[in-house]
Amino acid sequence: MGKKVLLVSACLVGFNCKYNGGNNLNEELKKAFCEGFVVPLCPEQLGGLPTPRPPAKIKGKDGLSVIRGEGKVLTVDGSSLDFTENFLKGAYETLKAAECLKENLIACILKEKSPSCGVNRIYDFSSDNLKEGMGVAAALLKEKGFKILSSEEQEIIQEVLKELK
Ligand code: SF4
Repeated sequence: MGKKVLLVSACLVGFNCKYNGGNNLNEELKKAFCEGFVVPLCPEQLGGLPTPRPPAKIKGKDGLSVIRGEGKVLTVDGSSLDFTENFLKGAYETLKAAECLKENLIACILKEKSPSCGVNRIYDFSSDNLKEGMGVAAALLKEKGFKILSSEEQEIIQEVLKELK
């Protein structure tokens, strides 16, 4: 077994890959990245979407419903674009990385509330409210048996970071 690593939403280590060109920097995860313990990935960029890009939400139950072909990912800025294929491609590309790292991957830490990376909550399609559910990439990783942590689970993240050293 090699060095233990975490797969982390790239925006959490400071990459400007958010839909609006910003990031969701978490200093501790950035530090772990700089020390070589983090593989940062952005499923939406891996799915071929540009940055910045129109904001999108899941129309349907959740990310799992998109994987099963029952839900879609549509833009919500009035452009009415269908990003479903991009989100699916990005999820499977992220899974490819996780499977490659498998032996050494101790957890995936993903950005809460994102339609790709959300772990416990995502935005409702027709309102500004949050609802229970996972994003598309998070749901696929969970389906395949990977340990998923929300970016909001700070205490658990602290424990996981200690395991790396
Ligand atoms: S939440 Fe996920 S998909 Fe969104 S910018 Fe961050 S890494 Fe990319």
